[in-house]
Amino acid sequence: MKTNALSRWTSEDSAETYFIRNWGAQYFDISEDGHVLVKPGGPGSEATIDLYDTVKELAGKDCSMPVLIRFADILARQIRELNSSFATVMKEARYKGGYQAVFPIKVNQKQLVVQDIMEFGRKFHHGLEAGSKAELIAAVANNRNPKALLICNGYKDEEFIDLALYAGKLGSRVVIVIEMPDELDLIIERARALGVTPTLGVRAKLSSRAGGHWDSSGGDRSKFGLDASQIVDVVDKLKKEGMLNRLQLLHYHIGSQVSDIRRIRNALREACRFYVDLAADGAPMGILNIGGGLAVDYDGSHTNFASSSNYSMKEYAADVVEVVMATADEHEVPHPMIVSESGRATVAHHSVLVFNVLDVRRFEPHRIPDELPEHSNQMLLNLIDARNTLTPRNYQEIYHDAVYYRDELRAMFLHGDASIRERATGEDVFWHIIRRIADIARDRKYIPDEMADLDRAISDVYYCNFSLFQSLPDSWAVDQLFPVMPIHRLNENPTRQGVIADITCDSDGKIDRFIDLHDVRKILPLHELNKEEYYLGVFLVGAYQETLGDMHNLLGTTNVIHIRIDSEGQPQIIRETPGDSVGEVLSYVEYKPREMMRKIRARASRAKDSGRLSETDHSDLVSAFKSGLEGYTYFER
Ligand code: PLP
Repeated sequence: MKTNALSRWTSEDSAETYFIRNWGAQYFDISEDGHVLVKPGGPGSEATIDLYDTVKELAGKDCSMPVLIRFADILARQIRELNSSFATVMKEARYKGGYQAVFPIKVNQKQLVVQDIMEFGRKFHHGLEAGSKAELIAAVANNRNPKALLICNGYKDEEFIDLALYAGKLGSRVVIVIEMPDELDLIIERARALGVTPTLGVRAKLSSRAGGHWDSSGGDRSKFGLDASQIVDVVDKLKKEGMLNRLQLLHYHIGSQVSDIRRIRNALREACRFYVDLAADGAPMGILNIGGGLAVDYDGSHTNFASSSNYSMKEYAADVVEVVMATADEHEVPHPMIVSESGRATVAHHSVLVFNVLDVRRFEPHRIPDELPEHSNQMLLNLIDARNTLTPRNYQEIYHDAVYYRDELRAMFLHGDASIRERATGEDVFWHIIRRIADIARDRKYIPDEMADLDRAISDVYYCNFSLFQSLPDSWAVDQLFPVMPIHRLNENPTRQGVIADITCDSDGKIDRFIDLHDVRKILPLHELNKEEYYLGVFLVGAYQETLGDMHNLLGTTNVIHIRIDSEGQPQIIRETPGDSVGEVLSYVEYKPREMMRKIRARASRAKDSGRLSETDHSDLVSAFKSGLEGYTYFER
């Protein structure tokens, strides 16, 4: 980070500090006046949205923070990129099978998102994948393109199978994928009962693994899919029933966010062997569904780190086509149509979560006496002495001493031998020493392990208006990293170092791991608060985060804004979806807000009748509870 006070901090310095050009995929940049810019159409497109101005405008229109902003045009471009990457590679390689994508609804089930995907993907016959009855009904309602696929994965009961078969009768191009050994009998029975000739697929359990957070989705012990022996049973059963001609698709999914292209190739090679042998066994096949896994470079490092990806969409397409073509040609099997269930790579970039900072806690000790009277607490005297004798040469020894004296002082306090004031002074002197040691250690090439985290220990805590559990569940559940940065003041030096705490009462509700090109950062450069509202954005949150989240502390869904660029190149808010109200979240946990209000009114009346509440207090109290129930669950200024 720039330290020379004479050179002015610019947006370029912020771009380097927050790596925005590494992870921004050319959708995000910084303006000269220090605001995050969004270019929803990607490179080459004119339309630019100033994110800070947008947020200010929203705040002026009573849209409280936190707010999730979706940029539909980013989604449109990602869909184009995915489909055109495959089309280009296939054309160059003279691949004959073609490519079609399906969007796995579980990655973002929101109605407007799915509707946009179907609209933007129509010319590519972009389809949908459903893994439950609810997702299937959503897919049927959204998908009116008879050439687009509707892939049915997941556990299937009779009702699910019937719905899938009926969707076929409606004209959808449905493939029912057999994921569990017992499903086949039920599918055959229901297809006969409803008079439908189903198209079937089979999900293979590969031994190849994905690595990273979602490694357990693949491998021999993975939850879904059939092993080689079970697939052979399916083939034999279909032959016996005279239905082998219905087996047209092989599917596998080794996990999401497969950051290493070699793992993609390995799994694909294994899957291709399944595919060609099924074809050799007499199944018509025709479709190879390679599942999800296409990774997003969240940290911008372009590596095989779990929050990154060491390949681009184009490389992915090239490698997939190369492996499939080589295996198919070698076994003289017609090139299959390749289908991918790319979810994360389709939707991640298009949503940004924005929240305001409510407060900052600094570790800035202020009770630092120059000296103490002789009769003072001995541990306090020792701490002062350690402070006075600290030098760059003895900092490690002083560190050990300071920790020891601080702990002894705490023990004395516990036994009643030190007062609360002595403890407070001791803690302040201790943190003062640690701050100075951290300054010394920062300039060293080698830092002892025990001191590697000192910067984090003395960093500020920025209390922010959001819930990690509601809006960034993967940050909590699987330690996923997302790019986080201020959305304005980016031409000012971020002189503070902080971690981020949400407003839940949970110590896990914090972000203290941040993206870095070489490692994981433990602190984030941030600005000193001033009189203006300070806004931070968490980027690339469009995949999985919207519906995986929960209502910890009864903090509900956030306000959502859906923006599209109109034909004049101007951003238009096409829908504002208010976040949950307090009454709504209470109703999700079995309360009845109307009944609650009735009870509160009755109690207030009793209090008024008994003289405990004045007439005015009574009506103020009732309206306070009423507007409380109607209000936003987050902090409102
Ligand atoms: N297909 C299946 C069967 C999945 O389980 C998933 C998610 O894990 C996906 C597709 C989407 O994967 P991704 O978001 O990595 O593209």
